Amino acid sequence: MAISRVTVIGAGVLGIQIALQTARHGFEVIAQDVSDEALAKAREALDAISAQMQADLKLGDDDIAGARARLSLTTDLAQAVADADLVIEAVPENPQIKRGLYARLAPLMEDGAILATNSSTLLPSELAGATAQPDRFLALHFANHIWRHNIAEIMGHPGTDPAVRDEVQAFAKAIGMVPIVLEKEQPGYVLNSLLVPFLQAAAALLVDGVAAPQDVDKVWRIATGAPLGPFQIYDIVGLNTAWHISSAGGPKAQEFARLLKRDFLDKGKLGVASGEGFYTY
Ligand code: NAD
Repeated sequence: MAISRVTVIGAGVLGIQIALQTARHGFEVIAQDVSDEALAKAREALDAISAQMQADLKLGDDDIAGARARLSLTTDLAQAVADADLVIEAVPENPQIKRGLYARLAPLMEDGAILATNSSTLLPSELAGATAQPDRFLALHFANHIWRHNIAEIMGHPGTDPAVRDEVQAFAKAIGMVPIVLEKEQPGYVLNSLLVPFLQAAAALLVDGVAAPQDVDKVWRIATGAPLGPFQIYDIVGLNTAWHISSAGGPKAQEFARLLKRDFLDKGKLGVASGEGFYTY
């Protein structure tokens, strides 16, 4: 079955980007969220993301208007998924919320439809038991600003039908992503399996007093040719997020969390978003 009708559940930060990217590539898309308030926020986000996407990709007005015309928003879950070939779940990163949603979806989705989660940290095998058709369930993981950072990591669980993986790979390509299929489950996919230890190593160099952030970044950029060093990446991720994650880590990570709070968060420096972090923007 070729995928033509797509529904995105959870019209938040990532959901709205996935919906618009999909509609821009000619698919009919429904984005569903829980309340009228959530949909009002989604409409605002849609305006902002449309403008960013249009400027970044130098799209004509017709292109973005066409995408918006193919994209509808609703709070009605049953109507949203009744005819969908592919349902992409982008609700908060909470296993109870995701499992509860899958149980409600079970009688509503068509037999043969595919369910994909955009979860960043939960493995498909932890969630598959809550779905009606575990063989038609897998992860399709996007990165923030998906039209620019257009990688899509596709990760099944051991019970995922390989044909489903292939269909989702073809779909990801059709919406302008570079699909990467993982051969087995991996917490954090490829991206965070590389990025998280890299950022933690940089944090350790700082809290151990080995080198200043700007010097750590310079070593990395000049020696490898990479465009950004780890502290520039921290500023983009956001220092609040970095603080949250570090606070829950081991002793070294917690030391970094205390430094972030004292030197940055308490002074309103949140990274790129606030105009100042390890660098000034
Ligand atoms: P978000 O909080 O911005 O959006 C979640 C949306 O889901 C909200 O609009 C909320 O109202 C809605 N929602 C909550 N419960 C719902 C339900 N039962 N049914 C329908 N909608 C519901 O979250 P986000 O940052 O977009 O993250 C969503 C998922 O995407 C998470 O699994 C996260 O791990 C993943 N993800 C996020 C990023 C990122 O950079 N933000 C990147 C990759 C993957």
